[in-house]
Parts: sequence; structure tokens; C-alpha cells
Amino acid sequence: MRAAVLERQGQPLKTTTVPDPTPQPGQLQLTIQACAVCRTDLHLREHEIEATKLPITLGHQIVARTDDGRRVGVPWLGWTDGTCHYCQTGRENLCVNARFTGRDVDGGFAELTVADERYCLPLPDELSDQDAAPLLCGGLIGYRALRFTKDATRLGLYGFGSAAHMICQVAVHQGREVYAFTRPKDERTQAFATQLGAIWAGGSDELPPNPLDAAIIFASAGQLVPQALTALAPGGTVVTAGIHMSDIPSFPYDSLWQERSIRSVANLTRQDGEEFLALAPKVPVRTTITTYPLEQAEQALSDLRAGRFEGSAVIVP
Ligand SMILES: [Zn+2]
Ligand SMILES: [Zn+2]
Repeated sequence: MRAAVLERQGQPLKTTTVPDPTPQPGQLQLTIQACAVCRTDLHLREHEIEATKLPITLGHQIVARTDDGRRVGVPWLGWTDGTCHYCQTGRENLCVNARFTGRDVDGGFAELTVADERYCLPLPDELSDQDAAPLLCGGLIGYRALRFTKDATRLGLYGFGSAAHMICQVAVHQGREVYAFTRPKDERTQAFATQLGAIWAGGSDELPPNPLDAAIIFASAGQLVPQALTALAPGGTVVTAGIHMSDIPSFPYDSLWQERSIRSVANLTRQDGEEFLALAPKVPVRTTITTYPLEQAEQALSDLRAGRFEGSAVIVP
């Protein structure tokens, strides 16, 4: 089969021919229809997070078909032990032995893959393969982050890329006010955010017209944490939703005082996936996508890095 492979971190992906994967007991043999690109793929490519296996086929937002024609989604959480303290307390997202798709096991920038059936997710029929793919990480980890904002009415989204463009729609559907923060002067993305229902959009260096009850940071720039704290009302929460962030600069205690809090979100549970994928068609979440053939997987990553598209990139083998 053909696959876009990361041979060494810091080097471009190479589209090449590799042996077909063979399913082990409990695994499905899958033909990939579409695989969305996540910032985590870029962090692995850039060596901002450590690879555990090389060479590796990246991609963990896979829409695929089984041999008998069933459609399934393969997300980031590929396997857990089921026995550790976290698995036993409903937090399999923190499993100490978890294996993640496209990091610990080969992922979806390929024609074929295999996946443990117990971690595959059902997909809403309403969405095409390409439109459903970005839901599988940006959507459902974004949804987990949104849950941690509890009943916040005024919600800030810092970094308006793949995850935020879906979570904005969910938040508006839930009756929240969305304030979108983009790179300063990025008027194109600010217009995109207001088109998706944000009541205000501006640069991340600006303060919103009203203090926020919560903010989710999807971007990987650590300086956004103190910036978001200063935009919060007392009692507000900053949720950091990325796997990697640059160092957070120091900030005055006053920014945290008055019961403001900061918390991170890691990975997903299968329950997050099932809940979000059931909710998405009711909103309905509409994805904005740019598609790339497998041969252009490296181009998709560099376009993500440069902010050349709005919404999500999807690889179509
Ligand atoms: Zn576990
Ligand atoms: Zn991801």
C-alpha cells in the first residue's frame, strides 16, 4: 500500500510503498477513506513532541470501511490496558499504558490500516467521509475541553483552527456567546469565526468587550495563558487543549486571584467520542475542509503551519 511516512523527526513526510498491515486478533482490517490533519501530527513532524516509534505513519482522525462495508472512525486513543487506576476510575484518557494512533501505532495517512475494534467509533450518517474526519480529534477533544468550561456563558476560543471552528458551532448551539481570538490582524480568520456564530472576533492581544467566564486555548503559544487569564471574570477557567505548548511566561498573581483557574485537557475517552459524535449532527456541526491527496501530506502539514487554510485539512488517499 501507499503511505506518507515520517522516517525521522524534523524531516518531511515521504509518500512511499510499504507492506500492507495485518490485523491481529480483535483488530479490524480497514480501507481508509479520509484522514484529517491535527496539530499533533505537525508537532510530531517538527519534533516538538517525542515519537515512540519510527518510522511512523501519522494521522489519527481516520474514516475507514471494514471488509464488510461498515464505516468506522479511528481516533487518537487506540488502546488502553483497562486495568490501571485511571482506566478503573473512568479516566482511560490518562491510562498509563495507552497506545495512541499515529504515534505508538501506525495511523491514517495511508491507504490501509488496522485498529482495535473496541476503540473504533460509530460515525453519524449525515456527514460524508471527508466532512466527518475532523470530528475525530479536533471535534471530540475540543468537546472534552468545552465540557470543562461547565456552564460558562461567555466563552473565549484562542486559536481558531480545526477544533475551534467546530466547537464554536457547538457552543453557539448550547446558547453560549463565543469570543474568537486569532493571530493579531488575521482578519480572514476573524471573518470566518463570526460567520460561524462568534459574536466577537479579534486578535489574541486584544481584550474582549466583556470579561469571559471561560477560555479554551487551542493554539500552542504559551503566552496566550496569561493573556487569556486577564480576559477572565472572577471564578473563570482557562482550559488548555493542546498536547504541546511553548513555555508559559510568568505573570502577576493578581491575574489568577479571585478563584480563576487553569487546567489542561489530555486525550479522550471513548465516552467523549460517542457523546460528541451523537451531538454533532444535532447542532449540526458543518466542517470547512481543504483536501489533499496522500502524495501532498507534507504540503498539508506546511499549510497548517503557515495558516494557509481555514478549518481542517483532510488527506484523501
Ligand atoms: Zn489503563
Ligand atoms: Zn489530534
